Amino acid sequence: MAEASPGVTSANEPRDLAAQARGAALIGAGAWTLFLAFIVLAHALGLMHFPQLARMAAVFAAAIGVNLLLAVTTHRWIRWRVSVYGYEALNAVFVTLVLAYAGGSVQLGIVFVTYGFFVVHGGAMRSDASPFVTASICGMAYATLAATEAAGWLTPTPVLHDPVRAGERVVFVAFGLIALNYLALYAQRMRTLATSNATLSAKARALEANRQELEQFVYRVTHDLKTPVNNVLLFSDRLLDPEYALGEAARTRVERIRQIAEHAENMIADLWDFVQITSQPEHLTWCDLTALVAPALQTLQAQIEAKGARVTIVGAAPIWGRSKKLGHVVANLLGNAVRYVPDDRGEIDLLAVAEGVETRITVRDNGIGIPEEYHRHIFELYGRAPEAGRGGVPQGTGVGLAIVKRIVEEHGGTVWVESSPGSGSCFVIRLPRPDTGRARSEPVL
Ligand code: ADP
Repeated sequence: MAEASPGVTSANEPRDLAAQARGAALIGAGAWTLFLAFIVLAHALGLMHFPQLARMAAVFAAAIGVNLLLAVTTHRWIRWRVSVYGYEALNAVFVTLVLAYAGGSVQLGIVFVTYGFFVVHGGAMRSDASPFVTASICGMAYATLAATEAAGWLTPTPVLHDPVRAGERVVFVAFGLIALNYLALYAQRMRTLATSNATLSAKARALEANRQELEQFVYRVTHDLKTPVNNVLLFSDRLLDPEYALGEAARTRVERIRQIAEHAENMIADLWDFVQITSQPEHLTWCDLTALVAPALQTLQAQIEAKGARVTIVGAAPIWGRSKKLGHVVANLLGNAVRYVPDDRGEIDLLAVAEGVETRITVRDNGIGIPEEYHRHIFELYGRAPEAGRGGVPQGTGVGLAIVKRIVEEHGGTVWVESSPGSGSCFVIRLPRPDTGRARSEPVL
């Protein structure tokens, strides 16, 4: 099993995270465009004179391009919190270059306020990004500019008149207004995020309370039903005792009652499993298919041998998920495959392959197959394909695949079956995965 390491979010988060960061990066590109327009306008109107406007424009163009590029690639880098600091550091470098070309650390020092934008921006990209780290990065960039000037390596270009002209004051006031409004935009965005977080937390708490109530209810119902069903089993066993010397017809009927009661007992047990297994809290981690299948192989060994079936684990890409629950998923699919393959020539293949940002797990058998019209139905609670013409295999309760579906969907994945009668079945699961090996365990529901 692969090692878990810090710095990456859970498999359910990346899409939301990438969308949030994309929005923030686009606003970043917008801010640079506005900043450029502002400088060019001030220059064109003669309010201020920037002797190095061409170089400044080149820095602006680079900043806009980099921000757009990063906006369309957020899904690749946003999982690592540290990448936000890299992003903000790049922007801090661009601001520093603009400051250097626009008069240096003192002449146009007021533009220092621009750094504040990136301090807030980091938090809008990823709410867990520390504003202090970004503030320190910006501070260092500005200090480097000042130190470079002090050392005489860079001579600031005078852009302001002495004394300062009215037009220059207007430019600074307007710039201050724009910068502050941009900060307000982010503050607003953060507030919206905080509000939706609070709403979501309240909903999650309500759902959890409902879930617990439902679990209690199922527990009570299954518990209360167990006793009468057990009594039916007990009494039918007694009636079948030779001391009662039942006639043939009566015996057949009592055996039928016994079978029905046994089935009801299995359904009650499976219903309890359904609630139990899917509500267990578990951490996400990297799992290995061979390790996930091992307990199931051990449990099913006798059945596999009795059937003379061959089980092969063909490939084993690491799987990002909750190991106990995924163990239950593969155990269920394997158990079904063993049940439905023909005697002495059963072939069952398990496979896990990485496909982009997903892992594809397949459990393929050469069993009796499933008619197409039941492909969806079998994943519903108590959903089963009809027994007729399916080799007289004893049927279960139809709960197993419903559990499989719930677990897979809880992982943000999908499951389906490809099958037709007589040509075997292939159960396919697609699970999202972080796209590198550096992932950490996440606490889950
Ligand atoms: P159970 O096996 O307890 O009936 P499941 O939910 O696991 O419940 O399966 C639902 C139904 O799907 C089964 O009753 C069977 O009709 C069909 N099925 C599942 N797996 C296979 C398989 N590998 N081959 C053929 N039919 C299958």
